[in-house]
Amino acid sequence: MQKKRMVMIPGPTPVVDSIRAEMGREIQAFGDPRFVKDYKELIDDLGKMLNNDGKTFVIAGTGTMGMEMAIANSTKKGDSVLIVSHGFFGDRFIDICTVKGLDVDVIKSEWGKTVPIADIEAKLKEKKYALMTVSHVDTATGVAADIAGIGKMMKAFPETLFVVDGVCATAAEYENMGEMNIDILFTGSQKAFGVCPGIMVLWANAKAMARREALGTIPEYYIDYHRWIPVMDDPLKYFATPAVNLVWAMKESVRIIEAEGGLKARYERHLKHARAIQKALESLGLKILAEESCRAVTLSDVLYPDGVDDMTFRKTLIEEGIICAGGLGAYAGKMFRLGHMGNIETNDIVAVLSTVERTLARVGKLDKLGTAVSTYLTEISK
Ligand SMILES: *Cc1c(COP(=O)(O)O)cnc(C)c1O
Repeated sequence: MQKKRMVMIPGPTPVVDSIRAEMGREIQAFGDPRFVKDYKELIDDLGKMLNNDGKTFVIAGTGTMGMEMAIANSTKKGDSVLIVSHGFFGDRFIDICTVKGLDVDVIKSEWGKTVPIADIEAKLKEKKYALMTVSHVDTATGVAADIAGIGKMMKAFPETLFVVDGVCATAAEYENMGEMNIDILFTGSQKAFGVCPGIMVLWANAKAMARREALGTIPEYYIDYHRWIPVMDDPLKYFATPAVNLVWAMKESVRIIEAEGGLKARYERHLKHARAIQKALESLGLKILAEESCRAVTLSDVLYPDGVDDMTFRKTLIEEGIICAGGLGAYAGKMFRLGHMGNIETNDIVAVLSTVERTLARVGKLDKLGTAVSTYLTEISK
């Protein structure tokens, strides 16, 4: 019998039927008035959802393109930037900023922890930074940054743009650009929006747009805000072909989020389930890399007990029915990363936890089945 296999990596995440149906629709011309209306509504709804007073860009691309677009439209060669890194994806900004000829300063935390806000503040006082980047959730460590707290502190540094990588956070962790003083935020469709990969959304507030204006021409083509502003204002205009079916899929995702009660309600659901999942994993004797005070709601990075081989564990997990990701960097081979974001529900999570239990039993690290499932169910019914 062919087993059903759930994809529980931290993106792409499971895609529900109503979103998948949008992917399979008959194509329309990008100039078709029906599509133009759908695209415009999506851009406007996404802007309102994040309380953005500037521009919202919805274009074909991935999260990494969002990282590069944020930097390219906010800096000129030689500018100083501060990178706050909590892992692999924080570090990716170092490469991007270095190839762009920027003066790069980095503050890093140990993996599993966050950089204290006071340390960031002290660094910002040392010199004038054009921008600062923080990943809301670093997927490599499962750590969530205190974006609200950092944003509050950033009010004292109005010349430094606050750039937030929301690729593993937006539409699950709570975010509000106005309230949190975020100047630029971006994400990819395949993480907490629960859509197939291929769309990048970037929100730039009025201050970030003014910075772009002050730069004049920039040495970029596809990712220059200026090429996209006319299209975002009126999607009947052409610059480069929109990912038509993905636009519809994102629109369905936004409809689901609104039906759920908006971003806050969605965050609360994620929080409740994530804490229950994390407690359930710990009830099996497993350790989670991120400290309890800074755990993400979107995924859990779980360390293997001594004597468990990564490849054997994940191969067995696949045989039992789920696919999850391995560790990155220094943690390659030492942990598995389990995504639990987007449009998944209790029944999915029960299946996932029961699969983890069966797998641990098969590799000889668990005697009694049912503990994680029971812990999870007890927690969520509180
Ligand atoms: C996945 C991820 C990225 C990269 O996104 P791609 O769509 O793979 O380019 C960037 N930042 C974070 C925090 C991520 O989780």
